[in-house]
Amino acid sequence: MAFGWIDEQAELRRRAGLVRTLRPRPADSPLLDLASNDYLGLAHHPEVTEGAAAAARTWGGGSTGSRLVTGTTELHTELERELADFCGFEAALVFSSGYAANLAAVTTLGPHGSLIVSDALNHASLIDGCRLARGTTQVVGHAAPDAVRKALGTHEGPAVVVCDTVFSVDGDAAPLAALAEACRERGAGLLVDDAHGLGVLGDGGRGAPQAAGLAGADDVVVTVTLSKSLGSQGGAVLGPARVVDHLVNAARTFIFDTGLAPAAAGAALAALRLLRREPERAERARAVAAELHARLTAAGLEAVRPDAAVVSVRAPSPEGAVRWAAACRAAGLAVGCFRPPSVPDGVSRLRLTARADLSGAEIERAVQVIGETRP
Ligand code: PMP
Repeated sequence: MAFGWIDEQAELRRRAGLVRTLRPRPADSPLLDLASNDYLGLAHHPEVTEGAAAAARTWGGGSTGSRLVTGTTELHTELERELADFCGFEAALVFSSGYAANLAAVTTLGPHGSLIVSDALNHASLIDGCRLARGTTQVVGHAAPDAVRKALGTHEGPAVVVCDTVFSVDGDAAPLAALAEACRERGAGLLVDDAHGLGVLGDGGRGAPQAAGLAGADDVVVTVTLSKSLGSQGGAVLGPARVVDHLVNAARTFIFDTGLAPAAAGAALAALRLLRREPERAERARAVAAELHARLTAAGLEAVRPDAAVVSVRAPSPEGAVRWAAACRAAGLAVGCFRPPSVPDGVSRLRLTARADLSGAEIERAVQVIGETRP
């Protein structure tokens, strides 16, 4: 049978306790949410949902074509201008997802003959970008500027260092200033994925590159997602106009993809304007993460000190992590569960996300449930 071999893989997964299933979320979920990436609690904000609805009314349910044909509306251009301005970069280009933005950035900045230096714990979309790029990829140890320096060595020709700003599994931040210094010593570019930094780190949520003094640098390119702190969907690449023009002409996930849905662009733009007006939301997300960490640690749980909004709690085993997350859910708390093969180091975790709109009582309840359901 043509696809019969899939059954063997399914059986292996089942035996290893690693089967993944989809669980539709009802609109009126009673669960306390520490699993979503809605860091600032904006996905349901009336200004954000109205931004989506108004954009759909004006521009339609879809963008109707690729960005280079009919898929660029004035709304897309406005969003790009405001994103670039907010984060302090010359230009921005919006994509239909952060995943597509990362594929675009890595493949176009790592051409044939180039060297791509990639952190060992980078997000899957950066890894896939490296796989698709024509340049040669060298994976280096996690958050290690000296290893980056060594990898860049005496390479002749274009070189780019690729790194998450905040790592999605443990929530730790990359040493951006030191990485930028290593890049500058060797004339390499720095490409960072600020999916978990935008809206949380930097002044009023302007992101990790701004916090590290790298906003607007002509040798730094940043990718972001609109799907986490901005409560929408989509992605963007920010950087020098020269880079953005190059992407428009060369990035396959830009050229051959339908433009971002107007509703997503409208929601993201509304969220961005809200964040400008209410910069304290970013600080609050960080404070919630710190409080979660402090309470988890006080309860005797092994949690990684968060650098942004992601709080990672060690689980004893992959099965233990699955049982723990299920027990939390049964007790009314939604948490993320990371286990192999999503985690390259084989360490399973509960992954909690701090949200700016969590109350002190909700944080207390979450930690209590996590403590009581510990396997
Ligand atoms: N980069 C990182 C670090 C992420 O965590 C994610 C989302 N899981 C992405 C990129 C992809 O972004 P999007 O969901 O917008 O495709």
